[in-house]
Amino acid sequence: KKLGRNRVEFFSRQLQDDLRGKRRLAEDLAQALEQGEIIPYYQVQLDARTREITGLEALARWNHPERGVLAPGAFLRIADEYGLSAEIDAAVLQRALEDRVAWQVLGYHVPRIAVNISPGRLADPALLDKLRRLAIPPGAIVFELVETIFLDDCDEKFLANIDLIKQMGIDIEIDDFGSGHASLIGLVRLKPKRLKIDRQLVTDVVESAEQRRVVGSIVEIAKALDVEVIAEGVETEAHAVTLSWLGCDSLQGFALGYPSNAADTGRLLASTGHDGKSRSVAG
Ligand code: C2E
Ligand code: MG
Ligand code: MG
Ligand code: MG
Repeated sequence: KKLGRNRVEFFSRQLQDDLRGKRRLAEDLAQALEQGEIIPYYQVQLDARTREITGLEALARWNHPERGVLAPGAFLRIADEYGLSAEIDAAVLQRALEDRVAWQVLGYHVPRIAVNISPGRLADPALLDKLRRLAIPPGAIVFELVETIFLDDCDEKFLANIDLIKQMGIDIEIDDFGSGHASLIGLVRLKPKRLKIDRQLVTDVVESAEQRRVVGSIVEIAKALDVEVIAEGVETEAHAVTLSWLGCDSLQGFALGYPSNAADTGRLLASTGHDGKSRSVAG
């Protein structure tokens, strides 16, 4: 009995420590946001046929003074729990717009930049006003929404907001398509510009005829709706060739480029022509 009580005490102490640890991390994160430590890394998206750069995805990183550059896995869940994810999205968008202008000043061709939008940010009633204040040039920014967002909240108000965002010249892209409860009705109603096939559907696309048929079917549905298809998680050249053959419009993944900081991304853009074609590589 005594042991049992001790165990309960031990357990609750652990929980408190955990809670305290989480709270401290959330406080650090809030401070990091204020100090501009949340920055985008950029990963290229290439045209599946020509391999020209057609887009960049901005991926949040925490440039931590002691722990180095942290990926979202280390802080996004805490951010969600403590209501900070909308601020992370905003910080990434803000910095992406600044990087974009800096690259343009240097004379680089800057493709569209895709930023990830959390459900919390999309639910913010002030979002549209905040976006208007940023005066985003049409075509400059794309919003990536995870599939679950639009399927959970596909009501009229939500769709009206999406329409207003589109009218600002911001395209909507459905992220991680195929990983959640995909609804074709949602897809038809939302009319995204593009959908991004989830990495899990890409992994075995070379070896598995079944997986190829699934991806091929998604491409066909997308084409029927006049929606572009991008594949994520392209880790090998065989992935790239197969996905291109299956009709994917663009490709993103480690085989084509790792997420990298603004300086390295700038150097990459500098090495491509105004059409996005590589200057150093023939063809
Ligand atoms: P995502 O939007 O699906 O982004 C793609 C993730 O896959 C990135 O992880 C990227 O580094 C990784 N990746 C890219 N190519 C490959 C590949 O070939 N193989 C594999 N295995 N992985 C690849 P990252 O940067 O750790 O981001 C994880 C997730 O965090 C993102 O998934 C996105 O859902 C979320 N996220 C990132 N930045 C933001 C942001 O600014 N706001 C919000 N709300 N979420 C973000
Ligand atoms: Mg994404
Ligand atoms: Mg994704
Ligand atoms: Mg994914």
